[in-house]
Amino acid sequence: MTCEFCQALSGRFNAHRECCQVRQLTGAPAHIRNAAYARTRTEGGEKALAELKQKVRAEYQRQQGIKQARARLELDRQTAKGRAEVGALLNTMKELNMNLPPADRPKAKECA
Ligand SMILES: [Zn+2]
Repeated sequence: MTCEFCQALSGRFNAHRECCQVRQLTGAPAHIRNAAYARTRTEGGEKALAELKQKVRAEYQRQQGIKQARARLELDRQTAKGRAEVGALLNTMKELNMNLPPADRPKAKECA
């Protein structure tokens, strides 16, 4: 039902596939979508219009789900990256004894 373009929310569309037509209509400006709705009502009646609107609503929900999942993934990636960076910084601070108050730091080796 949903082609590889639609699964990936690609910028590409196959005009011969219904999934792509619905996806394109979902992302189209309101006046274009409304023109398609009017045409569908004229050609197929209220039932066809209701079906098309339902398909557009479902497609919109599907896209929102994908976008939210991608946003969550990106947030998790950023969080993991941040944690790794903080961990590395803390290790560096430990190695350099930067986390100790100055009085507790080991004395620098005296030159002979
Ligand atoms: Zn498609």
